[in-house]
Amino acid sequence: MINIGCHLSSSGGFLAMGKHATELGADTFAFFTRNPRGGSAKEIDPEDAKALVEYMEKEHFGKLVAHAPYTMNVCAAKPDIKEFSRNMLKEDILRMEYVPGNYYNFHPGSHVGQGAEEAIPMIADALNDAMFEEQKTIVLLETMAGKGSEVGRNFEELKAIIDRVELKDKIGVCFDTCHTWDGGYDVVGNIDAVLDEFDKVIGLDKLYALHLNDSKNPMDSHKDRHEKIGEGLLGEEGIRNVITHPLLQGKPFILETPNEDDGYKAEIALIRSWMV
Ligand SMILES: [Zn+2]
Repeated sequence: MINIGCHLSSSGGFLAMGKHATELGADTFAFFTRNPRGGSAKEIDPEDAKALVEYMEKEHFGKLVAHAPYTMNVCAAKPDIKEFSRNMLKEDILRMEYVPGNYYNFHPGSHVGQGAEEAIPMIADALNDAMFEEQKTIVLLETMAGKGSEVGRNFEELKAIIDRVELKDKIGVCFDTCHTWDGGYDVVGNIDAVLDEFDKVIGLDKLYALHLNDSKNPMDSHKDRHEKIGEGLLGEEGIRNVITHPLLQGKPFILETPNEDDGYKAEIALIRSWMV
């Protein structure tokens, strides 16, 4: 069994997202912690957050996988962007404590010409500054396609960040099927070998969640263009091999496919039909 859900709008608040997820047949979901292309965050209503926590328990939801805004780049070359991003990360981790025990995923960043070796310690430093001993949230680094100067384009780069993070039990990875494929890992032809390599380099105990996306592009294209499930180069078989993989059971899978509600509902039903 896996938990399956999709990305939902947070405009109606926490409990509304939980109910929306149920309507779509989901038992987990993702949401942006703040405006994904800007950075402003809405005030949290603690009662609404509590209502979601209770709702999730009642409906047997899996872990949520919150998503940081795309504008966050804690290894930016420009000092003001870097500072702004570090503050967002810090605030977001605090905000996640209103829905304790879930996951917070972010793109490690883009080094914009500085080189990954410069960026990796910066990312780890931002995490060490933002994370705290008592936090209930697990922070996840996303596997990236390696578009432009993205950091986290292979398992080694993610491992290098994790190695520098002090609170090791609060850091992990979100495995994006489209990005990992675009990044050069043969998710379709040999998912066993990909997971074996993940285990050797990072350790499968660090794989907490997955983004389930098909890809518009071939393996190793470093493009990052998500496609609807079964309609891209991962195809039905590729996706099926991932969701049914014995090593990935029990984890939350989040769809970030180009869909509206109806499309997500259909994809969730399709995925569930492949699980049996
Ligand atoms: Zn993703």
